[in-house]
Amino acid sequence: MRILVAGGAGFVGSHLCDFFIAQGHAVTALDSGITGRAQNVAHLAHSDRFSLLEHDVTEPIAWQGDAVFHLASPASPEGYLRHPIQTLRVNSVGTEVLLTLARENGAKFLFASTSEVYGDPLVHPQSETYWGNVNPVGPRACYDEGKRFGEALTMEYVRQHAVDARIIRIFNTYGPRNDPRDGRVVPNFIVQALAGSPITLYGDGSQTRSFCFVGDLVRGIAAAMFTADTQGEVFNLGNPDERSIREFAELIVRLTGTNVPIVHKPLPADDPRRRRPDISKAQARLNWTPQTSLEEGVAETIAYFRQELERQPVQ
Ligand code: NAD
Ligand code: UDP
Repeated sequence: MRILVAGGAGFVGSHLCDFFIAQGHAVTALDSGITGRAQNVAHLAHSDRFSLLEHDVTEPIAWQGDAVFHLASPASPEGYLRHPIQTLRVNSVGTEVLLTLARENGAKFLFASTSEVYGDPLVHPQSETYWGNVNPVGPRACYDEGKRFGEALTMEYVRQHAVDARIIRIFNTYGPRNDPRDGRVVPNFIVQALAGSPITLYGDGSQTRSFCFVGDLVRGIAAAMFTADTQGEVFNLGNPDERSIREFAELIVRLTGTNVPIVHKPLPADDPRRRRPDISKAQARLNWTPQTSLEEGVAETIAYFRQELERQPVQ
């Protein structure tokens, strides 16, 4: 198959490229480089089935193939707060460009949405039928509302144009190739601990997240695209193992074998209090379930960061 991965030089996109190259497919990664890093896919350069094109997906592009994965978007709070208008545009204009490309090719399409569409949820855990509790004018709105618009547009291309499209809502995912500078909690805590610096806990640390290892997520993304009868469906993809951020900070201290202190910083605006996916739909329909425990996945990620920081220290 010929597969397009928009956002292919990003954290998740690069693992998706690896997955399909390993299966023998031809993969074109499109990436503007706004938050991703070409080094994430440098190891694929030897393959004549892989190409990386520097391209902003809000601009049309010619391509022929079978499946379009739309993962292009700043994803970390620091990333989208730095690029709010680009975030709105890639999830709206960019989604339309890629849906049009899928329509012209008769190709399958997948939109990578987010648990952030549930906002600061009033229902716990979150299932796909929950409509969410989003502040439409707050600082996170560029991301949350951008993704909600992208979801609505995807559904209209299913209803109006019969595009074979589906939506996944990704919950906090981590692993090797997390950008050490993008401000998300997993790279922040690991880099801080390995550098012997204090761990920065925002608020009192009682807020919760549920962390999914990237290898598990990638299997789920492929299943959502290629399982039969998934046109127009929405799937939560994440690991339901919910932890408080304080507990997570303590885990990082323990698994890095460091003795760094935990210091408190203010909680960012509109930071969701609780988040845990209900993945029963993905389990039943996609036969997918995450298999990597937090302890295993974090240990692998720490090993990756140790190596990376030796190669290239974070300033
Ligand atoms: P990332 O920032 O590492 O990757 C996103 C990639 O998209 C980057 O390489 C960036 O340069 C590229 N990009 C952004 N705007 C673009 C544009 N206009 N044209 C072309 N390329 C563009 O983030 P990630 O964690 O890999 O996230 C991938 C996708 O998954 C995003 O859509 C994100 O919203 C979604 N998601 C991720 C998580 C997570 O925990 N990692 C959670 C929820 C949703
Ligand atoms: N967080 C923290 N310290 C950090 C970075 C993040 O305590 O150095 C908290 C943040 O306030 C949030 C959680 O960790 O409650 C997850 O943050 P992240 O930015 O990874 O993603 P989010 O789930 O908020 O999009």
